[in-house]
Amino acid sequence: MKKASTATPTLKTRTNKRRSFVRAAYALLLASATGALGVCASGRVQSPEPKVQSPGPGVQGLGSGAPIMILISLDGWRWDYLDRAQVPRLRALATRGVRSEGLIPTFPTKTFPNHYSIVTGLYPEHHGIVSNNMIDAAIGERFSMSAPTAKDERWWGGEPMWVTAQKQGQATASMFWPGSEVSFGGVRPTFWRPFDDDFPNRQRVQAVLGWLRLPELQRPSFITLYFSDIDSVGHSAGPESSEILVTAAELDKEIGVLVDGVNDLALTPRVHYVIVSDHGMSQVSTSRVVVLDDYLDTRTVDLIDLSPGVGIWPRTGTAEDIYMALKDTHPSLTVYRRADVPAELHYNTHPRIPPVIGIAAEGWTVTTRRQLQEWQENGRQLGGNHGYDPRLRSMHGLFIAAGPQFRQGATIPPLENIHLYEMMARVLGLKPAPNDGRLEMTAGVFKSR
Ligand code: AMP
Ligand code: ZN
Ligand code: ZN
Repeated sequence: MKKASTATPTLKTRTNKRRSFVRAAYALLLASATGALGVCASGRVQSPEPKVQSPGPGVQGLGSGAPIMILISLDGWRWDYLDRAQVPRLRALATRGVRSEGLIPTFPTKTFPNHYSIVTGLYPEHHGIVSNNMIDAAIGERFSMSAPTAKDERWWGGEPMWVTAQKQGQATASMFWPGSEVSFGGVRPTFWRPFDDDFPNRQRVQAVLGWLRLPELQRPSFITLYFSDIDSVGHSAGPESSEILVTAAELDKEIGVLVDGVNDLALTPRVHYVIVSDHGMSQVSTSRVVVLDDYLDTRTVDLIDLSPGVGIWPRTGTAEDIYMALKDTHPSLTVYRRADVPAELHYNTHPRIPPVIGIAAEGWTVTTRRQLQEWQENGRQLGGNHGYDPRLRSMHGLFIAAGPQFRQGATIPPLENIHLYEMMARVLGLKPAPNDGRLEMTAGVFKSR
């Protein structure tokens, strides 16, 4: 969860020092990669980025006039916030572009699986990030979003957009995105930095503008930008809270700074904004809880995920024992064997999917007796959560697309997020890697040719 975004003076000083060091290192790297010493010496090349992958032999920036895409994630932004909050800049982008009535996530409706579906066009059972938390017997480690093993490429299947672009000779940049710290057979975004949710939002925007300011031949064509605030506030205060509206308005200002910066650089005629979220948010409550220990001795199992999607591996006994113990017990918890998860959820084939899966009904929380006791002792109230069935309206996210190739002022029906990879590849003129999406599903986003 993100801490306060106002950095202390110490942190700022440290960051600035690091930034000047990084700028110098970056200038050297860029110079050696491009031979463009004059550009670096002029001081025009400014990147706040600590990580620069020197481009491969075929990789260079854009030709003049080529399309640019900025893919922005507002983590946990439920589809209806766009109309409920004071967000004039986002609405202006929707008016000059296309919005959908919702972006339908993949199951489980969690952060890592969905961000990675958006950039690969694959369902989690095909890209392998089947949850925020996973185990894999072959790798022999436990994956969580912040664990060092999350940077190990063995977890990450498929081909994210930045790798597709790099392989086809375009430079890319990532101001955070799940998977952006991973080396895909040695290929990474040209510019990236290790995830740090304390890195202030304004500096994230400035970093993107810094990359756009690069000379034509080094400028990335595909850039990601990530904000976690709405998800954090959705969890703590709930999706209907006034805090959500305040946070949405704050993020809207950051979008405004970006759009104005792009305008000042005279890049508006080339820039395509794709603004998404990974899932929505549902109000939860301590009065709607399923206590697993009522049905199962939790010491006999490995609860890799608890709520609202339950993922259970046996420790002692068998998966069938667990399934039989939980099946048809609580009316707000549906339990499946991995093979029997409904086909619409596309969650059967990957070996990392736990053998027993439970899905709580909307607004319900699955917990253990111990956790429930802790909540009662601390007087903890539950705000919001996600992870439910993606077909629920409350799980649907945001989709706005604005730019020269997109229609103006159109609203399209809810769209599955696995189709966005094909759409982005078309905008950038790239040949997509094999994926589960279909370009015709985003036909309504494009101007007719
Ligand atoms: P969730 O538990 O699904 O709500 O996850 C949301 C959290 O994911 C955010 O609060 C972030 O701190 C975290 N997160 C987002 N992107 C990354 C990343 N690239 N690396 C590590 N953690 C991330
Ligand atoms: Zn999320
Ligand atoms: Zn969340």
